[in-house]
Amino acid sequence: MIYQGNAITVVQRDDGIAMLTFDAQGESVNTLSSKVIEEFEAALAALGKATNVKGLVVTSAKDAFIVGADITEFHGMFRRDEDFLVDMNTRVHRIFNTLEDLPFPSVAAINGLALGGGCEITLACDFRVMSDNAKLGLPETKLGIVPGWGGCVRLPRLIGADNAIEWISGGTENRADAALKVGAVDAVVSGDALEAAALDILGRANAGELDHQARRSAKQSPLMLNAIEQMMVFETAKGYVAGKAGPHYPAPIEAIKVIQKGAGEGRERAQAIEAKAFAKLAKTDVCYHLVGLFLSDQLVKKKGKQYANQAAAVNKTAVLGAGIMGGGIAYQSAYKGTPILMKDIKEEALQLGLQEARKLLGKQLERGRLSSDQVAEALSNIRPTLSYGDFGDVDLVVEAVVENPKVKEAVLAEVEGLLDDNATLTSNTSTISIDRLAANLKRPANFCGMHFFNPVHRMPLVEVIRGEKTSDAAVAATVAYARQMGKTPVVVNDCPGFLVNRVLFPYFGGFSLLVEQGADFERVDKVMEKFGWPMGPAYLLDVVGMDTAVHAQTVMAEGFPERMAQEANNGGKTAIQRMYDEDRLGQKNGKGFYRYEEDKKGKPKKVSDEQAHALVEEAVDTRGEFSDDDIIARMMVPLCMEAVRCLEDGIVATPAEADMALIYGIGFPPFRGGALRYIDALGVDAFVAQAETLAEELGPLYRPTERLRDMAAKGERFYP
Ligand code: NAD
Repeated sequence: MIYQGNAITVVQRDDGIAMLTFDAQGESVNTLSSKVIEEFEAALAALGKATNVKGLVVTSAKDAFIVGADITEFHGMFRRDEDFLVDMNTRVHRIFNTLEDLPFPSVAAINGLALGGGCEITLACDFRVMSDNAKLGLPETKLGIVPGWGGCVRLPRLIGADNAIEWISGGTENRADAALKVGAVDAVVSGDALEAAALDILGRANAGELDHQARRSAKQSPLMLNAIEQMMVFETAKGYVAGKAGPHYPAPIEAIKVIQKGAGEGRERAQAIEAKAFAKLAKTDVCYHLVGLFLSDQLVKKKGKQYANQAAAVNKTAVLGAGIMGGGIAYQSAYKGTPILMKDIKEEALQLGLQEARKLLGKQLERGRLSSDQVAEALSNIRPTLSYGDFGDVDLVVEAVVENPKVKEAVLAEVEGLLDDNATLTSNTSTISIDRLAANLKRPANFCGMHFFNPVHRMPLVEVIRGEKTSDAAVAATVAYARQMGKTPVVVNDCPGFLVNRVLFPYFGGFSLLVEQGADFERVDKVMEKFGWPMGPAYLLDVVGMDTAVHAQTVMAEGFPERMAQEANNGGKTAIQRMYDEDRLGQKNGKGFYRYEEDKKGKPKKVSDEQAHALVEEAVDTRGEFSDDDIIARMMVPLCMEAVRCLEDGIVATPAEADMALIYGIGFPPFRGGALRYIDALGVDAFVAQAETLAEELGPLYRPTERLRDMAAKGERFYP
């Protein structure tokens, strides 16, 4: 035994080969926490002192190789100043350089996922062999930083600047065949042949068949690119990557600049450039929020897993209604492998639902994500039906018929009578109270909300709504089913609009008030898109549909009359109501705040419409002047305040779940971390002051709660 730590052991075999194995005790995966990095340094020092070592295999005893640095340490570390962060990475560079400079050849045996720092360790080895089911990648830019432990230096020297830019700026996890193709690894073998393959490589290196010194010097020298090649690679990539990442995500472009600046340098100088860029990015708000997002996502997924572990099996399901939502739910369930009955009262609806599923599966086939056999299998998972004949052995039902309480109550009572006593019954209602729908049921404990977002196949969130009488078993089964469908469930309590729509409608309320005071709605859209929303509020209303919006608004106004019953000052009609009255329903009938024309691909394209402007003009009451910041505050404060209220009312359990639901459900700008993180970033006291000023003019939609005022006074935050 050369070294024995908590996470790393180094054992010398009889033939002189040392096996360095990552196997963090008491953990399910290997991460490179600061403690593990210390052990790694000590293990390499011990290896340096050992005698007669002929080569080194670096591997892992877990399913994954090493998933990367320990991200739970990031916020704490990144609070330190830039010099500290540069020193920290310089130290890790030295450790990894020690690995690269060992007096014998080294090989990484990549048995599973190797990400971030895990991938960077493999890059410091002379050779890499990879198991055919492993993946390799540098996802750091997704956290708002660049790879900081040599990835920006070694990867381009290994696979070429163009490939490295693609891997690093895209943050992709790359499969073994792709890694082999670009030369990131030397061989791909099945998992059980991995160790033998690694030993074989070392044997050949020691026999002089493979030149590990040449490998090293290629990684330690400047990149061989002439001026024209440099320009072609880097400048072209910058244009492309900037377009894709957008202005709010600086890390992918910074990564290209780091590779470019270091291209003409040797190892240490290139690493110094990387360390500096890393430290600068680690201090940005974007990085802070993206790291927070990662941690929140982990928390939400962990909670989902805990529920799902307690759930009875969900092997066969049914959806009532084959409309926009029902069709989408059937597709998603079938695609992810849970057979589903799709019941409607109209044959045409069933045909449309199936047609949509076929179209989406066809796209998966085109993209190479499914084979034609898999497409056929997925399609056979959907059983369209006009009768309740086969409902006796269904484990879970999602009701997705029209949004009418009387129809829903009748349909739910009808289906309940056919189900097994233990089956779970859910409704995809967007607005109707779960307790109200449960009132007529015989087994209200088996009932809860399962609220999907449109389009179902794209939107990651499912709100699971617990009614007063809902049992833990029903929540667990619904969460389990959402996870089986590849969705991220968030469990919330019942209230009008549940969590996401309850938070969204005050935002539309802010929009109506702005427009009423003379702000141009197209400008409001542009400002909010620049702020980071995928679409501005007027455009979003067109996508949601004015009928749906007016209906939901009515429900919200009944539920929260004090702040959400918004009669416009000018004759009692908001711009949204006026659109609805004039049958301008939005995208679904080709006109709303915008007019819609088909683009070349047959997709709706929005164009400005004078008639819409003239209609909105009728809602204008006063004519104010608004800066971009005014617009942002007037839109964001009501949304954020409602998120605060949902947390205070216990509708959602934690800030992390609230923020993730808004990001996954309505596209809240991820780099801003969610509504509660946004308040933290502004400062709770600054936010309260802003909200109070706006509330004086605009009323209760903007008024901060007592608890939030209290938080501001005490200097508290939502996140540590
Ligand atoms: P839709 O009108 O497209 O589809 C409703 C379907 O239900 C129709 O095919 C209709 O024939 C069928 N139907 C009516 N009565 C039925 C019955 N007794 N048994 C079986 N099928 C019956 O509506 P949609 O947009 O898919 O919405 C369905 C539900 O999902 C609503 O509660 C809605 O509020 C909710 N929802 C919609 C969205 C959205 O963006 N469209 C988002 C989330 C939730």
